[in-house]
Amino acid sequence: MTRHQTAATALRCKECERTGELTAAYVCEYCFGPLEVVYDTERIASVVSRERIASGPPSLWRYSDFLPCAPDDPYAGLPTGMTPLVRAPRLAEALGLGEVWVKNDTANPTHSFKDRVVSVALEKAKQLGYEVMACASTGNLANSVAAHSSAHGLASYVFVPADLEEQKIVATAVYGTTLLAVEGNYDDVNRLCMELASERPWAFVNVNVRPYYSEGSKTLAYEVAEQLGWSLPDRCVVPIASGSLYTKISRGFRDLIETGLVDGEVPRLNGAQSAGCGPVAAAWDAGLDFVAPVKPDTIAKSLAIGNPADGVFALDVARATGGSISAVTEEEIVEGIELLARTTGIFAETAGGVTTATLAKLARAGEIGRDERVVLYITGDGLKTLDAVASRVERHPIQPTVASFEQAVGEARLIA
Ligand SMILES: [Zn+2]
Repeated sequence: MTRHQTAATALRCKECERTGELTAAYVCEYCFGPLEVVYDTERIASVVSRERIASGPPSLWRYSDFLPCAPDDPYAGLPTGMTPLVRAPRLAEALGLGEVWVKNDTANPTHSFKDRVVSVALEKAKQLGYEVMACASTGNLANSVAAHSSAHGLASYVFVPADLEEQKIVATAVYGTTLLAVEGNYDDVNRLCMELASERPWAFVNVNVRPYYSEGSKTLAYEVAEQLGWSLPDRCVVPIASGSLYTKISRGFRDLIETGLVDGEVPRLNGAQSAGCGPVAAAWDAGLDFVAPVKPDTIAKSLAIGNPADGVFALDVARATGGSISAVTEEEIVEGIELLARTTGIFAETAGGVTTATLAKLARAGEIGRDERVVLYITGDGLKTLDAVASRVERHPIQPTVASFEQAVGEARLIA
């Protein structure tokens, strides 16, 4: 298997398990269930090795044996992935834990994990013959689709709600995309894109090429294992929006075990939601095997999916790995952002506040042993959600004199 071949064999319905060809399909034509990519695992196992991966490019394409597509030139476009795994001893100490690592995905080209899914979706879209990329988004995905399309010289159309924050609009439009500010909320935007996807020959990354798009999230598991010297963490804390990232991280760890690259078991996966939009956490708490939709009301906007497509599958993963899914309050989210920033030097967006607060909550409840190795997934940059902490940061206005400085800061602070 050369680098641009793939072991992907079919698209399979997650509900009725019927299979079909690897086309731009995203719902089962029999039962309308969601589709996912299936692979010939034996074929992957026969070619993949730690050495082959290590000799690959310093991006997610080093794992292309496990992906539905691979570029002819893995150095083309924006290099995504291989983000730092940061040891966090001060965060561990603050929480009374033994070993904590932060997977810092803010280090991606547009500062969120969405670059992973967009990289894979864009490559597959090109192979399927698409020349135009598109998406419905409220921020991170819009940034990423616009940037990666421009890097590859493809046209793009990005649909956002008209009331989106100014900085997100600027940080998307600057890449030269066609930005459509839709008079309506995200649900309206999404509905419009579903309609357009059936009429236009465009690749809507999270609609008609979604099965390939979501595969990009698996690389967050591969990288962590490689960065830990080809070993597995005991536990991971992962944010849940649609539930796709959470379930794909589980799949990623399983891939490594099944192909013999690592020994052990899939880590306990703790899913993190905001209480203002926590339909999967609510189902977990109630012991249900279905997810009742909610109306989102939270500062964690990148996680605010009231009717999560992979919610039921996330419940399965939590059960199968001995994990759990919990929700934290708005106040805890902000405290989580501050705790992470002050103990690691990493500034996360509100989703990262959700995961950090969930880790803190599990630690307080005594759920995590001191001998456990824990990985905290930080999926987006704090500069994207400045408003969450803007009113809480301390500043000291002074005159440009030593006396004014000393008065403001005080003798005690000078010694410390
Ligand atoms: Zn089906």
